[in-house]
Amino acid sequence: MTSQSWRALRVKKYQFSLRLFLFLNLASSLFSMLSPMHHILAITVPLVMITVISAGLLLGHWAWAERKINIPAISILFGCLWAWHVATKTPLMHQPNFSYLVIALLSVLFVGAIAFSNNIIAFTLHSLPVLVTCLLLSDGDQWLRMLYCFALPVIGITIQSVIQKRYDNFAHGLMYKLLEERQTLNDLSMLDPLTGLYNRRGLQNRLETLLSLDASGHYVLLLDIDYFKAYNDHYGHMMGDQALIQVSAAIRNAVRSRDIVTRYGGEEFMVVLTSTTPEMALETAERIRQRVYDLKISHMFNHSVATNVTVSIGLAPLLGEDMEGALEQADKALYEAKHLGRNNILTSEALQKA
Ligand code: GH3
Ligand code: MG
Ligand code: MG
Repeated sequence: MTSQSWRALRVKKYQFSLRLFLFLNLASSLFSMLSPMHHILAITVPLVMITVISAGLLLGHWAWAERKINIPAISILFGCLWAWHVATKTPLMHQPNFSYLVIALLSVLFVGAIAFSNNIIAFTLHSLPVLVTCLLLSDGDQWLRMLYCFALPVIGITIQSVIQKRYDNFAHGLMYKLLEERQTLNDLSMLDPLTGLYNRRGLQNRLETLLSLDASGHYVLLLDIDYFKAYNDHYGHMMGDQALIQVSAAIRNAVRSRDIVTRYGGEEFMVVLTSTTPEMALETAERIRQRVYDLKISHMFNHSVATNVTVSIGLAPLLGEDMEGALEQADKALYEAKHLGRNNILTSEALQKA
């Protein structure tokens, strides 16, 4: 979004510069016709061409704003046409008239400096043909003055270009940094800060992608740590947090990277096993149960189940996109698994058969 606005801004700047250039050329050519210097009206072929082309392009550019017109090409074309005009008009002067040449050169430099205030290439391409023509048509006395008139804006525009480039680079860097930070914040808002697993928002995000690609063969596991309230009460909240971190890592390590592991509630987890079979899903659930058991986190109050932290698991297939249905089935299975004595796995199928 931001990079698009940046590009749009650059295009707008380019278009504005081009339109300003065309407008100033149209105005200069009309002025030359309506108020000619020394009352020598010279409606030359290049002058007419400048009027027609600039008016045509201005109108056309408004109509087809998205068409990109090449600024360097236009600037050298107009530069050559002005040079041609100056070369045609100068011999019509009764006596050698250097003020005409200087004024002609200054007008071209003026137009270029306004339209291309930080585009040194376009400015040079536009003014160079006229400068060379004026130098050729004048005598040596005027050369220094003309070269000075040309050099001054060239230096100014070069400095402006350098400043603008630095500014652009800075703004561009800043924009990318902002985009990166926004992405990081977005990623962080999808993760649970304690365990680093997805939170419900992250789950939703991953599910949308998963279901849009493939909506079959997925299984849902609901896991709940057994007698965790007792653990907290006896070992303290800090130890409880440590246990949660360890259990989360064990679950994450027991599944494939494409499976989605979420901290679903306080000490409840939800895993979506993607594109798998019922046998593999059960095998994975068993692996998780065993890995948590093998952590051997001491839990003396795990009511006759074990002397360490254990989990109970409910397993259900995800049918189509019916996540609610799958969760309901998995929750029933989990409830029953708890009922059967904890540190247990129950599938929704087994529950239905019973
Ligand atoms: P059951 O075997 O039936 O699941 O019993 P339980 O004690 O685990 O179930 P219950 O839902 O009553 O207790 C859950 C406990 O989990 C309550 C709370 O003390 C603890 N808990 C939940 N979230 C956190 C957490 O972020 N950190 C810590 N340390 N404890 C938490
Ligand atoms: Mg619970
Ligand atoms: Mg529990």
